[in-house]
Amino acid sequence: MEKVKVLDKTFRTMVKHADIMAAISDVASRINRDYKDCEEPPLLLCILNGAIPFTAELMKHLNFDHELACMKVKSYEGTATTGKVKVDMAPTTSFKGRKVIIAEDIVDTGITIHFLKKFIKDEGASDVRVSTLMFKPESFSRNAGMLAGRGERMTPPEYIGMSIPDAFILGFGMDYNEIGRNYRDIYVLDEQ
Ligand code: 5GP
Repeated sequence: MEKVKVLDKTFRTMVKHADIMAAISDVASRINRDYKDCEEPPLLLCILNGAIPFTAELMKHLNFDHELACMKVKSYEGTATTGKVKVDMAPTTSFKGRKVIIAEDIVDTGITIHFLKKFIKDEGASDVRVSTLMFKPESFSRNAGMLAGRGERMTPPEYIGMSIPDAFILGFGMDYNEIGRNYRDIYVLDEQ
């Protein structure tokens, strides 16, 4: 097992590059199946910065016409969520009447995709679905349960590459304080 030091923390290998590639190819097949008869090219929305490597790899496998757009949001500081989502860069294309496929690096509590889905629908999109490379189902369910108590309904991502336990990860686009996005493999925080 490989260990890497990033800033003040140590991480160990969790998912090797080949397994990341296989997961993305699998996500793409499911998206291809669902969008093959789409009349208007859907908008693939890359959520900056973390989803750049995922989106770039996913696009190589999509076999239907689509447009690419970007938007930047932020909810994490260090290794924890702030609980609030901030738009750092507005979307680069109009969502009006469009079918939108969000591409996220990771869905944790789900607050980011919950915010994005509402934002994109409010901007007039006809349909919004979420693809994500990584998913933390326990964290998502905990938060969805809390929101349900307040009458808000959260839906899990439609296309998931891999589900993982609650832990902080980095690599393949994901950062720790903006460092580590360039790693080919995915690493998990080493608590030892
Ligand atoms: P959520 O809003 O679902 O809690 O978190 C979504 C965003 O938080 C992701 O797009 C990502 O930027 C960040 N995030 C959540 N979990 C992790 C993680 O384990 N590692 C890293 N590097 N970022 C994460």
